[in-house]
Amino acid sequence: MARELWRSVKNCDRIVHGEKSRKQEVFYRMRANLFGVGIDALGMEETVAHVAGLVSTNRPAWVMTLNPEYLYRARFDHRLLDLARRADLVTADGEGIVWACRVAGCPVPERVTGIDLMLGLLERASAAGWSVYFFGAGPGVAAAAAEKAHREYPGLRIAGSRHGYFQEDEERGIAREIRDSAPDLLFVALGAPKQEIWIDRYLEKTGAGVAIGVGGSFDVLAGKVARAPRWIRRMRLEWLARLLRQPSRWRRQMILPLFVWAVIKEYKLKKTRQDSQGNN
Ligand code: UDP
Repeated sequence: MARELWRSVKNCDRIVHGEKSRKQEVFYRMRANLFGVGIDALGMEETVAHVAGLVSTNRPAWVMTLNPEYLYRARFDHRLLDLARRADLVTADGEGIVWACRVAGCPVPERVTGIDLMLGLLERASAAGWSVYFFGAGPGVAAAAAEKAHREYPGLRIAGSRHGYFQEDEERGIAREIRDSAPDLLFVALGAPKQEIWIDRYLEKTGAGVAIGVGGSFDVLAGKVARAPRWIRRMRLEWLARLLRQPSRWRRQMILPLFVWAVIKEYKLKKTRQDSQGNN
């Protein structure tokens, strides 16, 4: 197992894998550090490549797509903070996180959302022969998403699918069902933080190579919810389009201005104060 060395540079951490000695390859990746949560400074392609690396190890791994709402709540809820710290790879899911990393002085290349990462990984899975399990969303949606993926990505191996509405006493059975299908990739679409709590509790039991929480992505893949047009996404306004299409999300999105203010307070105002104290 690669050794991990951490070196802190302001709000950036440099994670070095491997030994420097002999011919063994040494590589590192940067991680932004926002409110104590590491966010991998990887673009979409690099993230897919990194997940491919995780699939090839024997250890089950967990990828978290971190959005501003989750990070804001994690500042007050230690359980959520702890979960985010335990994930093997954390992506910047949303313009809010990309912006905050820039303000904190450790920019990440682009946002890597759950839906985009899932689509990128499905393409890779069909080329590499990985099997994929879809767990979550309303009855029929996971199966429809799996069917659509099978049609769009020829040769994709579907390990199985199951909807995400269950009682607590069914959870072990679900993990066993997933284990029996031996997936390389497990997409968990229960919404945050339910999916993170579930992955943390059951990842080992499912025996999946890599588990990823993907929120409402099955609804989009299955065609139940339309995604904002590309030009809106390019203008970085997907959050607004989602709010207009699903007004029930307003309560959740109320957190966004609070998140922005928390980032400004922590990484702009505090820094300005420290700088001016340093000059005196
Ligand atoms: N969901 C589920 N089980 C639950 C609660 C939610 O499977 O007990 C599903 C829900 O049907 C939806 C997804 O989780 O497909 C959450 O979507 P949302 O858009 O809220 O997630 P986000 O992408 O914002 O994290």
